Amino acid sequence: MVLDKKTISKVLEDVYSSGSKDSIIKSGVIANIMVFDLEVDIDLVMDNPTLQARKKLEGEITTTIHKKINSKAKIKFNTKIKKQPKPENQSIKKELSGVDSIIAISSAKGGVGKSTFTVNTAAMLAKMGCKVGILDTDIYGPSIPTMLDVEGYVPKSTKVDGVSKINPIESYGIKLMSIGFFTKLDEAVVWRGPMASKALKQMIFDTNWGELDFLFLDLPPGTGDIHLSLVQSIPISGAVIISTPQNVALADARRGIKMFQQETINVPILGLVENMSYFISDEEPEVKHFIFGESGVKYLAKDLDINFLGEIPIFKSLREASDFGRPASLQEDSVIENKFRDISKVLVEELIKRNTELPPTKIVKITNLVGCSAINKKS
Ligand code: ADP
Repeated sequence: MVLDKKTISKVLEDVYSSGSKDSIIKSGVIANIMVFDLEVDIDLVMDNPTLQARKKLEGEITTTIHKKINSKAKIKFNTKIKKQPKPENQSIKKELSGVDSIIAISSAKGGVGKSTFTVNTAAMLAKMGCKVGILDTDIYGPSIPTMLDVEGYVPKSTKVDGVSKINPIESYGIKLMSIGFFTKLDEAVVWRGPMASKALKQMIFDTNWGELDFLFLDLPPGTGDIHLSLVQSIPISGAVIISTPQNVALADARRGIKMFQQETINVPILGLVENMSYFISDEEPEVKHFIFGESGVKYLAKDLDINFLGEIPIFKSLREASDFGRPASLQEDSVIENKFRDISKVLVEELIKRNTELPPTKIVKITNLVGCSAINKKS
């Protein structure tokens, strides 16, 4: 076959990008093809901004042309990502009209303490008098029902203005909706992929949140398609990234930060939190043991010019309280309580700076409750 534009378009009618019913020719993913002798320049416009999806599609196109037309063709790609509209349409705003700020809690790696951070910060803010909710979307291990002692609870349905909604489960003053209320542990695998994104989005919009100052969105670990789909379709006010100071975790954290900063996503990063910073034994309380390395997250924050919200050491009691189902930040006058109080203050200050939609009366209310200063970009 001849290596020309017409033939290439014809053979690419059999190539599909993931999640699309139409071929890349019909759906307009192939924006342009130019052929110069053996060199083929292809312009791609993709919806899916992940590097993985891009590499996969470029690989399939190259293989198809090599196999069906000319194995010597040199194919160059100029790939652009289609701009996604921000989730600002009126129906989304109306559905979540009682929720003032949505804070995504993210960790690119699993097991670094994302859920522990979410639960203890939410409990601290609830204790201060704020109205707080958590949406636990961690499909790989929804641990928040256990941490809030409501494992096995079944949310009840209700009607709000004639529309069916689900009531969240309340514990320690926090309204919780979790993927864990609807799945059994061994069913987690069924939730992967587009089905998970759809179910999770539905969960946020179908929950009867009522009035909330803060809704924490506990994301599954990673930076794959489920995350992209969630952060693109939910009006997130800001994101917090949790990492341990360990090198492998830091590399993943960088990837997580990049995801939120992508042009098509553009969610403000409120800051980084370093968890499991060090360990202090009862025998030698003056010695800090830097088990996962020293200050790695602090340096990363500095390097990327992102706020550092604080460090949380390894506390045996933090782990025990999580397993027992009572957030450790609720222990009066404890080191853990003080840590979470300080971090919550900085977090809320950063949020107020960025959430320019917060009315001044709300800012005054929150800053009085949390005890932080009100510096809104508008003022
Ligand atoms: P993730 O949500 O990132 O998967 P978790 O919050 O479930 O991680 O934490 C993983 C485990 O580590 C849990 O058993 C939790 O109790 C424990 N853990 C997290 N942070 C700390 C800490 N600072 N000190 C002690 N144990 C911790």
